[in-house]
Amino acid sequence: MIGRDRMVDEFINFVQIDSPGKAEREMAEAVQQALVDLGLRPYYDEVGSAIGGNCGNLIARLPATADGLPTVMLNAHLDTVAPSQDIRPVIEDDIIRSSGETILGADDKAGVVIILEVLRALVADNAPRGEVIALFTVAEEIGLLGAINLDYSQVQADVAYVMDGGPTVGKMTTAAPYANRMVYTVKGKAAHAGVCPEQGINSILAASKGIAKMTLGRMDDESTANIGLIDGGTATNIVPEQTVATGEARSHSLQKLTDQTEHMAQCMREGAEGIGAEVEIEETRSYDGFAIPDSAPAVQWASAAAEALGFVPQTERGGGGSDANIFNVHGISAIIMATGARDPHTLQETLCISEMVDSARWLLETVHQVNSTPK
Ligand SMILES: [Zn+2]
Repeated sequence: MIGRDRMVDEFINFVQIDSPGKAEREMAEAVQQALVDLGLRPYYDEVGSAIGGNCGNLIARLPATADGLPTVMLNAHLDTVAPSQDIRPVIEDDIIRSSGETILGADDKAGVVIILEVLRALVADNAPRGEVIALFTVAEEIGLLGAINLDYSQVQADVAYVMDGGPTVGKMTTAAPYANRMVYTVKGKAAHAGVCPEQGINSILAASKGIAKMTLGRMDDESTANIGLIDGGTATNIVPEQTVATGEARSHSLQKLTDQTEHMAQCMREGAEGIGAEVEIEETRSYDGFAIPDSAPAVQWASAAAEALGFVPQTERGGGGSDANIFNVHGISAIIMATGARDPHTLQETLCISEMVDSARWLLETVHQVNSTPK
């Protein structure tokens, strides 16, 4: 039922279509055509215009063939990170990689290909099943914007399988952290650095003193923190008036996230005010975390499917945010499944072909497992 060569051809085709966040139109149209070829009637939602992109989320519904069975959502995102122009995929035995100057785009075009192949198998098979919703989101990599802006009154499901994981088949990410983003605007006072430096307050120095006080990196087994951007000053002969430092913190524990965020703010205030600078602090929640127990149906179905095919089911906590975070907030029990992609967001990104194929077999069997359980 799952066609290896067809999947490889489709993957090679998709990765050569550039699809950065907010500019997924061409990629979406290729997926739309594949869905139409399957006899489905895919449509776009309004999210494209809401986020200033050229394309909304692409949705296709496979109607239920029986009553009383759960609705399953299958999700992958259409956008990739940069550099993504002129990707030239290279196939070496069981591995697909880029030519080295770009990413490959397996994150998340492997997920898109897996879902399309599973839909083909489901269309060909008229076994009793509940509704299957395929949701291809936009702008995942630039802040989960497609998932955040989705109209959940139109798209509801009992469970979602997000095909956006790495190796190896059988592995599921069933928990993800909460995350905050912080912007510290440090205000000093400009002065001529050679003539009257004592009249200035150096905002770069003030920010540095604050950052130096912070505990950053991996805080414990469920929390991380980072200052990732710093921008200040205008010339070497001017005491810099303003410096903006931007950072983040993540934790599977909301309390720890709150504590770390406050710790970083306190350090920045002490460091800056210690030399007379002022700080404005902006803290925003990037996304909420989730934790799905191994006993939950979403995990049980995928685990049973993995076992049925001889793969080892394994659950793990992830360190990143994905569309799954947003689905869980909206009451859809969503887990992330392995696709066979490795080293995402790097020029060394690869896809293992046999793992992608096995991932499709796993997802198909997972849908069968879901439909073996009346609601
Ligand atoms: Zn991804």
